Amino acid sequence: MKTRISPMIIALLLAGMLAACAPAEKAASDQLNVTVSILPEKYFVERIGGDAVAVNVMVGPGDSPHTYEPKTDQMTALSKSALFFTIGVEYETAWMDRFTAANPDMQIIDLSAKLEKIPMVAHHHHEEGEHAGEGEEEEEGGLDPHVWTSPENVKSMSQTIYETLAAADPNHQAEYQANLEAFIKDIDQLEADIRANLSGIDSAKFIVFHPSWGYFARDFGLEQVAIEIEGSEPSAQELATIIDEAKEENAKVIFGQPEFSTKTAEYIAQEVNGKVLLIDPLAENWLENLRAVSGTFGEVLKSQ
Ligand code: ZN
Repeated sequence: MKTRISPMIIALLLAGMLAACAPAEKAASDQLNVTVSILPEKYFVERIGGDAVAVNVMVGPGDSPHTYEPKTDQMTALSKSALFFTIGVEYETAWMDRFTAANPDMQIIDLSAKLEKIPMVAHHHHEEGEHAGEGEEEEEGGLDPHVWTSPENVKSMSQTIYETLAAADPNHQAEYQANLEAFIKDIDQLEADIRANLSGIDSAKFIVFHPSWGYFARDFGLEQVAIEIEGSEPSAQELATIIDEAKEENAKVIFGQPEFSTKTAEYIAQEVNGKVLLIDPLAENWLENLRAVSGTFGEVLKSQ
C-alpha cells in the first residue's frame, strides 16, 4: 500500500508546491531590484516603489554609515540591482570602485546631489594656529552628510526617487506618482507636527554626541552642539568647554545615538547633573521616528 500511495502523495505535494511557488517567483522576478545605503532610504524607496520594488539595504541596524563594510550577501544582492540610490555617506566613497566592478550595468543615483549641503559645525572654535595639522582633514570632510534629518531634503530626494523609478519601470509610473503624492502629504503633516512639538521652547540649543541633526536644526531653528566631530573624541580642554556651555544653557539632557559609545555623553551628563537620552537618526520608519524625536526635543528644550 505504502509504495503505491507514496508516489501519489509526492505528486500531489509537488503539484501543491509548484502552485504555491509559481506566483511568488513571478512576482519576485517582476520587481525592480534596488540597493540603498541606509534604512531611512529603504523607507523612502518603499513608500514610492510599493510592491513593485525589492530593496537591498547596505548599512543595517546598529551599523555606522561612516565606517561600514558590506557583507558578501549584500554584494550579491547589489550585483542583481538595477539601481543604487546613494546618499553621500562615507562608506560609499571607499567602496564605489568595488560596487561598479560588481555590477557595471547598475545605475547609480546620488540622492544628495541636488541638495544644499551645510558645513559640519564644531561645538568649539579652534583657536588661531591650533591643530595646524588638522586643517586639511577638516576641509576634506567639511560637509555634513546627514541630509535625511531634514523633511525638506527628503521631499527633494523623493522626487528624484520617483523620477528614477518611473524611468526605469514606466509600467508602474502612475502607481509611483500616486505614492509620491501621498508621501509628500505625510511629510507636510510631519513638518506641521514638528513645529507644534517645538513651539514654546525656552532654548534652541541641544547637545548631542554625534552631529547627526544639523539639517533638522537648520530647518526648525535649533542649534546643534556636537561633542564629537565625525569620529574624533574631544580633548580634555574641549570637553571642559562643552561642560561650561551645557551649564550656561542649563542643559540637563545629552543626546546619544545607538551606533556610538555613550561614555563621553554620560560623563558630561554627570557633570551637569543630567542624563543621556538616545535618539536614532537611522531608524527605518523615518516618518514616525522624526515625529518622536521632535517630541523629545520639544520636551527637553521646554524644561531647559
Ligand atoms: Zn553620522
